[in-house]
Amino acid sequence: MPMNEDNLADLVLRIARIGREHPQRPPLQQVAPFRFYFVEGGVLNRTLLDERDGCCTPREILTRFLLLMAVLDQGPDIPGLRQMLIQVTNTLYAREVRFLHRPADFFREIGLAVDQIIRNHESIKSVRAEDWARENRSTPSRYNLFKYDRNQTKALHYAVARWGVPLLLPLFLEQDPGFTLDFPQQDNPTLLLDYLESWPSAERMSKQLKAHKRYGLGKAIGDKATHLFTKWVVETFRLSRRTDKGWSPFSYEVPYDSNAGRVLWRTGYILHWLDEQTLLNKGVIQPDEGKGGTHYLRVTNLRGIKISLEDRAPGQWALYLDLIREHFKGGRPKRAQFQRLQHLYLLEHTQNYPDDPLTVAHFDDGLVYAGTRFCFNHDQPNCAACPLKEHCLGYQQRPNLIADYRT
Ligand code: SF4
Repeated sequence: MPMNEDNLADLVLRIARIGREHPQRPPLQQVAPFRFYFVEGGVLNRTLLDERDGCCTPREILTRFLLLMAVLDQGPDIPGLRQMLIQVTNTLYAREVRFLHRPADFFREIGLAVDQIIRNHESIKSVRAEDWARENRSTPSRYNLFKYDRNQTKALHYAVARWGVPLLLPLFLEQDPGFTLDFPQQDNPTLLLDYLESWPSAERMSKQLKAHKRYGLGKAIGDKATHLFTKWVVETFRLSRRTDKGWSPFSYEVPYDSNAGRVLWRTGYILHWLDEQTLLNKGVIQPDEGKGGTHYLRVTNLRGIKISLEDRAPGQWALYLDLIREHFKGGRPKRAQFQRLQHLYLLEHTQNYPDDPLTVAHFDDGLVYAGTRFCFNHDQPNCAACPLKEHCLGYQQRPNLIADYRT
């Protein structure tokens, strides 16, 4: 049964408030070459962002690192993957392989890079495998950070396909004679950022990051990762310099990873908009495909599902059109897309209460916080301690939303 509009607005704003209280920031201050970029408490020193650090500015170097992190994050254990990225980066920089400043160094020293990836993988596995196995109801021996695709477990392939592709983008931009945009290629200290910000909106950039015919990363990056990267650049670390609406805190879609999808499902948010038959038809609910005979929720299939908002809520439809025109810089749509709907509540609240902004990043951080700390991917989440329990359909009325589905 769908929840009413007031309850839905309360749920969206509650999630965003939780995210604002518990921001989900990758620990960039632990990366050795960035140690001068941060001050005590892991706070980014914004006065240094546009100073020159070798070939580039800290703003550019952090953007390159975050793109790499977003690509690597698409693996089986995010804490382990991030730790491996940080440790390998620190070791390579200690050996003068300054691959963020000079991406070609990574390929020139590929033997060293692969050695470090393997060595750090083993040390992280010895620390993380048991926790990971417990959380995922698996066995420690199955822990393998190279396994981003079903059968891919080889270090060289992982190094080139995962690390190599995002590192090649700034290198390619610098060397490509086919590049025709309006800023210098050679000796440009913000080359990648200039390219990204040449798109009219953060959402358009996010799409092109994957799909551009010449510069797109293609299969190396998924929709979740492009939007996670966008969130980090636009809001979490505020590296983008554009201040127009096209790069506002509402100008891109929520990343929607499996943690986010699980919380949106159990709280009843998804069922407010979409009935179970539609979710079956779209492959979001995959019967009996989850662990232990449960139903599997393929969260990524939510993206792009169309909703006839004009018939359902004309006032919201007008706001949606404004969102797409002003913030996404898109053409007039015929129908709304599911993954953009929470924007309406966040945008309306922020317009009404500018001193109490609640943004897309807050909303996503709230989902990730609840999904990883309380709403575990098994039949016994910690609902009693969950800050969403007052708003949660699964906890309050429909325990089968928790018991019968996995992400
Ligand atoms: S109350 Fe329970 S089911 Fe609902 S979001 Fe929180 S942990 Fe998940």
